[in-house]
Amino acid sequence: MSGQPTPMMQQYHALKREAGGSLLFYRMGDFFELFFDDARQAAAILDIALTSRGEHGGEPVPMCGVPVHAAENYLARLIKAGCRVAIAEQVETPEEAKVRAKREGTPSSKALVKRDIVRFVTAGTLTEEALLEPRRANLLVALAEVRGTIGIASCDISTGEMVLEECEHALVDAALARLTFSECVVPEGWELGPEGAVERAKSEFGSDGGAAALQRIHGVATLDGFGDFSRAMLGAAGGLISYLEHVGRGSLPLLLPPRLRDAGQAMAMDEATRSSLEILASQSGSREGSLIAAIDRCVTGAGARLLAEDLAAPLLNRAAIEQRLSLVQWFHADPLNRADLREAMRNLPDLGRALGRIVAGRGSPRDLGQIRDGLNDARRIRDFLARLPDTPDLLAGLLPALSGHGALTDLLDRALVPSPPTERSSGGYIAEGYDAALDELRAISGNSRRAIAAMEARYRDETGVAALKIRHNGVLGYFIEVPARHADALMAPDSGFTHRQTMAGAVRFNSLALHEEASRIAEAGGHALAAEEAHFEELMAEIVRAREAIARTAAALARIDVSAGQAERAAEGGWCRPEIEDAALLDITGGRHPVVEAALARSGERFVANDCRLMPDDRLWLIGGPNMGGKSTFLRQNALIVLLAQAGGFVPAESARIGLVDRLFSRVGASDNLARGRSTFMVEMVETAAILAQATSRSFVILDEVGRGTSTYDGLALAWAVVEAVHSTIACRCLFATHYHELARLAESCEALSLHHVRAREYKGDLVLLHELSSGPADRSYGLAVARLAGVPALVVARAKQVLDRLEKNRTETGGLAAGLGDLPLFAAIHEEEEPPRDSLAERLNAIDVDALSPREALDLLYELAAEA
Ligand code: ADP
Repeated sequence: MSGQPTPMMQQYHALKREAGGSLLFYRMGDFFELFFDDARQAAAILDIALTSRGEHGGEPVPMCGVPVHAAENYLARLIKAGCRVAIAEQVETPEEAKVRAKREGTPSSKALVKRDIVRFVTAGTLTEEALLEPRRANLLVALAEVRGTIGIASCDISTGEMVLEECEHALVDAALARLTFSECVVPEGWELGPEGAVERAKSEFGSDGGAAALQRIHGVATLDGFGDFSRAMLGAAGGLISYLEHVGRGSLPLLLPPRLRDAGQAMAMDEATRSSLEILASQSGSREGSLIAAIDRCVTGAGARLLAEDLAAPLLNRAAIEQRLSLVQWFHADPLNRADLREAMRNLPDLGRALGRIVAGRGSPRDLGQIRDGLNDARRIRDFLARLPDTPDLLAGLLPALSGHGALTDLLDRALVPSPPTERSSGGYIAEGYDAALDELRAISGNSRRAIAAMEARYRDETGVAALKIRHNGVLGYFIEVPARHADALMAPDSGFTHRQTMAGAVRFNSLALHEEASRIAEAGGHALAAEEAHFEELMAEIVRAREAIARTAAALARIDVSAGQAERAAEGGWCRPEIEDAALLDITGGRHPVVEAALARSGERFVANDCRLMPDDRLWLIGGPNMGGKSTFLRQNALIVLLAQAGGFVPAESARIGLVDRLFSRVGASDNLARGRSTFMVEMVETAAILAQATSRSFVILDEVGRGTSTYDGLALAWAVVEAVHSTIACRCLFATHYHELARLAESCEALSLHHVRAREYKGDLVLLHELSSGPADRSYGLAVARLAGVPALVVARAKQVLDRLEKNRTETGGLAAGLGDLPLFAAIHEEEEPPRDSLAERLNAIDVDALSPREALDLLYELAAEA
């Protein structure tokens, strides 16, 4: 029957409307329940049972539920799957609901407990320890546009750090790529991506509103003290803050004063560059195999987060880089103290995140304990560091932030027990001796408990029932229990016991004396709890008042951890301090690729170090040589060395002189980089076009087999043109790996270009890849040798050799492939000269571009051919 929806359903639908696109967690007793489509979606993601409850419009209502005590785990999985969740809690007890119903004149049987959405849980607004990854920042980003300029506000709610910046339209993608955010908020109708962004009313992104909100939050009359923010930045800040107010239902999380990020402050890297260099994540998307995974030796989560920030935004300011380098060097030079420091920091609580939870009003007694321990540790670390000689400037600037919390830590030391619980509802976290009244209440409970224990002994004597027990449960409170066969002794009307409950095998009683003691305990317990609550609120308020200073302490500890970790990594790998210069040069001796080196070391192989020497008059290196010879690795290692150096760390090389790089570009030929919507060659060209548009003479560009996503002619022609443009128009430092031998001819016309190759040698018919860089053109293609290495039968290789000789002869006669586009009869020549055998296997072999095959592909192909033959 489809009658009126029940009051509960009406309430549910009203809340669901408020929840908008979020899943609604509807609290019912010990469960959060989901209904209708929410239930279907959540059950599928969480892999839990989908059931039904009642009917709506004649149809059963799909339902699923998660227990409240385990909700965090389920929330985490929903958020990971891209959902947002609205939490609707019961905001009155059933008793209160009945009283209200009576007042309002509704029958109490219809009384429905009032529920409200108390908060939204979204990927960008998490503070719960269990939902956050300790070593990764969790950014919420908001975008706004004011008169053609894009403002970007980014904020890590878990620590309160907020940064405002602006950029042109064309650079939005690059800026967002640098930020790797969890959630993005944009004005309604926004067209500049990113996918999955949350749309909010345009009016929330006004610059006046944004400025007013910031002033209100930080209690200032003007923002001038924080920085000179543009209207676009303030608009983005406005959008960010109103979204936070929305998800927190009016209460705001911790927000520190906004910092201004100047576009000219960090080395520019676009998305393609970041992903091809695998800086924070490998191509597969995981941290494993990335640069950060290979260098991170931080002992705290906050340190690891700061290191990721450093690597995402290497510096351009030489003095700032030198400051970081000097601190790393200071730690590097002192292994013993470094080890002691790192040991001391290993157990540091995550101060920033504990503070974030406290300011968001979601702090627990344990968070208070973490603040206490973190600040006490910070002071000890300060004392330790301050005793060491030759304090570098950066550290001298950080030390004051590590102390100065004496009054607060004294208070917390006195107020809290050594390890406060995560739950505050059952009290027990305020230390003895902090509050005399509380101690007295506890003494009353203690006395009464002892009185009850004594009572038990007395009752056993009086009744002669040795099995008599005084017990406690949540429903009855305290009661006296005896086995059923002894119950008669207590049943007599004058016994002083009153019957309460008969169980199978046991009977329960009460007595006046027990009732009195129990009431005393309950009353004292209730008062004690209230007293602890009051102290909790006060302590939270004290911490909130000190939030900026605590955040500075957390930031200083993170910087120290990063620097000591960099020093540790450098010591492990024999890395050096780079020399930072202004001239446009790159002079690296014995450079290595930290990720490839580590991978080789795991299988017991040695990495061959290589030099790179780009100078103003020799700034473009064209690198040839066989597949798998180490070209990509060489290109990337030099880009990574530049990046590490400007992030302020040591580098994997014997020595390195680095002329500051303003923009770093890395491009990989399309065939290595599949899996995108557009045609791969199109992607390759769009990304290459971006270099030609954005690189300056101070940039560093690495191009790996660019042009190979298309036919030989097109590819060669494009590669040729790109090299010329990079060499002559942009005139920046560049490493270009290619298998087109023909490009060698460019050395004749480009005076700052030189030829290099990765060496290989044929030894007893086998190809040995030396992974060693040498100057001069690649003398020959080793495609055939690679084919033999992969197991192509000798006869086939011999035949291929014949074809090759013919091709090369033809090339010499026509002046080579690169003699001019009209003189490129590469493939036509085969047919004119000699009919290839009509054997289908041979035809397939002829069609193979051996140079373009990886050994793995060659092997697969061989299996295929063998199966057909
Ligand atoms: P290419 O770009 O020339 O095809 P890669 O740079 O991809 O070659 O290198 C192929 C493999 O050779 C790497 O995965 C690595 O195992 C090994 N390799 C590359 N460079 C070196 C080196 N300098 N020392 C030792 N092994 C190396």
